[in-house]
Amino acid sequence: MYDLVIIGGGPAGVSAGIYAARKQLKTLLITETFGGQSTESVGIENWIGTIKISGADFGKKLEEHLRAYAGKVVTIEKGKKVTNITKNSENFVVEAGGDKYESKTVLITTGSTRRKLDILGAAEFENKGLTYCASCDGPLFAGQDVVIIGGGNAGFESAAQLLNYAKSVTLLNRSDNFKADKTTVAKVLSHPNMTAIKNAIPVSIQGNKLVESITYKNTQTGEEKTLPISGIFVEIGLIPTTGFAKDIIELNQHNQIPVDPKNQRTEVEGIWAAGDSTDGLYHQNNIAAGDAVKALEDIYLHIHA
Ligand SMILES: Cc1cc2nc3c(=O)[nH]c(=O)nc-3n(C[C@H](O)[C@H](O)[C@H](O)COP(=O)(O)OP(=O)(O)OC[C@H]3O[C@@H](n4cnc5c(N)ncnc54)[C@H](O)[C@@H]3O)c2cc1C
Repeated sequence: MYDLVIIGGGPAGVSAGIYAARKQLKTLLITETFGGQSTESVGIENWIGTIKISGADFGKKLEEHLRAYAGKVVTIEKGKKVTNITKNSENFVVEAGGDKYESKTVLITTGSTRRKLDILGAAEFENKGLTYCASCDGPLFAGQDVVIIGGGNAGFESAAQLLNYAKSVTLLNRSDNFKADKTTVAKVLSHPNMTAIKNAIPVSIQGNKLVESITYKNTQTGEEKTLPISGIFVEIGLIPTTGFAKDIIELNQHNQIPVDPKNQRTEVEGIWAAGDSTDGLYHQNNIAAGDAVKALEDIYLHIHA
């Protein structure tokens, strides 16, 4: 019987685990892996206090930090996947790898995965010019011509960041209207190095070892054009990893867990969520960590009040 089960070992889950150890909450942390999504990154440059770290080392450091303070208070189950959460008369029952764990409270930090581009060449050129994170990889494309796929806020925010480095930024938008808010669209499109092409869907990516061009199709005319570019930034959405919680929490239309941003509580008393699995607007490591710390403060009060 635990005070708390934390699900996930990304920046949110690990931050929560470290705080749980300090607060002496009898905790079980269950995660498939440590480090979360940005372990894919070639270099993380905005994790506060660390000038630059590879994604792989970031995952190792998070795990090390947690294990250094876990002691007998925080039990770690690595390599297990949570498949269900139910509630008995008093407590929550978390199921993972055929085992069942009972707890007074649950914190969900299972993050999300980027929706992947599914066209010819996309898998082949991933991390060879095709990337899913402008804030991480943008500086690598300084002085080069790049393309963004996706005309939502994430696409336009990525464009705003890339315009600081790139020679030119071209955004491909599948329909006639941008999903991003009008103010952001107007501001980004006013930049002299920015171009947006509407009704354009990507068809294929070409290159030798690295990306050299992208071909897109005009959905109105059927005409195909090839743009010579060296970087492709994909912003076609995130898929929250929340399926295992859908029977106990009502997810929003994007499969995110709605939370109160003051304290990260969900609609279910006794369950909190933090990081990319929630309906929080911004998705960054530091935000995920901060949200989780907020949740832990609130969980501690809930248990001891
Ligand atoms: C390629 C890439 C690069 C990025 N670079 C940066 C960057 O440089 N700076 C930055 O601030 N942000 C970056 N981001 C965004 C950042 O990674 C996310 O905002 C952050 O990881 C969210 O943290 P999280 O803890 O909420 O979830 P995640 O990092 O997604 O972690 C989720 C954790 O839960 C585990 N998990 C998932 N499902 C289950 C389950 N059912 N049972 C058990 N465990 C489970 C996973 O194994 C993982 O450990 C990047 C994202 C990507 C995709």
